[in-house]
Amino acid sequence: MQFNLPDEVKKILSDFRKNNHEIYIVGGAVRDLLMEKTVTDWDFTTNATPDEILKVIPDGFYDNKFGTVGVKFENFSKPFEITTYRTEFGYSDNRRPDKIAWGKTLKEDLARRDFTVNALALRAVLSIKYKVLGTELVDLYNGLEDLKNKVLRAVGDPSERFNEDALRMLRAVRIAGELKFEIEQNTLSAIKNNATLINKIAKERIKDELFKILKGDNSYDGFIHLKETGLMDQILPELTKCFGVEQKSPNRHHIYDVGTHLLMSLKHCQSSDPITRFATLLHDVGKPQTYKKLDSEVITFYNHEIVSTKIARNIADRLRLSNAEKDKLIKLIRYHQFTVSEHQTDSAVRRFIRNVGLENVEDMLELRRADRLGSGARESSWRLDDFKKRLIEVQKQPFSIKDLKINGKDVMDTLNIPSGPKVGEVLEKLFKEVEEKTIENDRDILLSKLNIFKYE
Ligand code: ATP
Ligand code: MG
Repeated sequence: MQFNLPDEVKKILSDFRKNNHEIYIVGGAVRDLLMEKTVTDWDFTTNATPDEILKVIPDGFYDNKFGTVGVKFENFSKPFEITTYRTEFGYSDNRRPDKIAWGKTLKEDLARRDFTVNALALRAVLSIKYKVLGTELVDLYNGLEDLKNKVLRAVGDPSERFNEDALRMLRAVRIAGELKFEIEQNTLSAIKNNATLINKIAKERIKDELFKILKGDNSYDGFIHLKETGLMDQILPELTKCFGVEQKSPNRHHIYDVGTHLLMSLKHCQSSDPITRFATLLHDVGKPQTYKKLDSEVITFYNHEIVSTKIARNIADRLRLSNAEKDKLIKLIRYHQFTVSEHQTDSAVRRFIRNVGLENVEDMLELRRADRLGSGARESSWRLDDFKKRLIEVQKQPFSIKDLKINGKDVMDTLNIPSGPKVGEVLEKLFKEVEEKTIENDRDILLSKLNIFKYE
């Protein structure tokens, strides 16, 4: 097979060889090369120690305890990572490496990698002018065969490997989803049997993998896998509880139970923002707690958005989301029941925008679109289309007192009052009138209105 290697990669391979070091392209990069996918993440493994690596690439940076030297290139968003052969990728207490030991051979290094398709290494022989003269694929675990059959299989004994580092179970789900591979039977059973070990992993690492699953094109399959393996019950038990909660009522459009509806909504969500996708996944997570079946057979979930918000807040804290991420997640869930009724006033529409945050309105609408499609409804309704037009219309009017054509200083000067709460009250009063369109947002008109206040 001919490999199309970028010049930057060829130069690294060649420079290491010139210095008599072994060097291989390894991991996801080899997997993606073989699958003829664009490689975004170049990883290398070498017998050179970090100090020796830095001698070959002086502009590399070495800032972690795993012996990885990174090097940035203009044409690549992620730095290339060059790592000394390791004998330990694992984490003996299922979560953190006791010590990092350098390996002497490629064989030792590959034995510690997670999946057979990730344990392939590629060596290239280059001419002085960087022409690829030949390549050798090192495949000690039948990775190539698994790649062809689209199978994700642990290297060695799966149960042992997951006991060393429980995050590998989540990586299995994520990578299988990304590649659209099946998880091999023994590997899958080992995940089911060891799912509880995931609780020993640092929440930040879990969040990183979970967000990668969320962001992927195939996130629906990822979450199905999480559910089937029992990992969901460990990481997001609140979501597991939604499965089997019926919501079909006479004359209502819901065709799925709550859990399936949430996964279907995620499937339809086209946002690339993981928080919007997470909010879409969790928006009805409070429904099990608010479920009521009336005598008429109608099922209600009164105030479920409030309960969903509370649960989402706990999840956000547990998974160590940043404050900004949590804030957005909560807003999208809290207001997902927004009305698109044509009877609501302009100020109600504007209140909606203020509540959700102008910067989140697009994503809120995307959540609604995904929610509708995920319930088996049509993508849009004329009401939703009209509502979108109104969202734009109402933004042409001033939005808050900051948009008024007069400010606090004008109020103080005209009314001859010192700064204090009174100034805000006056601005608020004027803003209400502008918002209700009883007066225009025009500087002269507002100033003359102020003059009237003076004598009131
Ligand atoms: P992607 O870059 O898309 O996340 P990748 O396979 O390159 O996929 P990385 O996290 O970049 O994954 O890791 C690079 C390689 O390091 C993997 O292909 C695998 O060989 C090895 N690896 C990473 N994490 C682990 C782990 N927890 N246990 C064992 N090997 C691992
Ligand atoms: Mg990688």
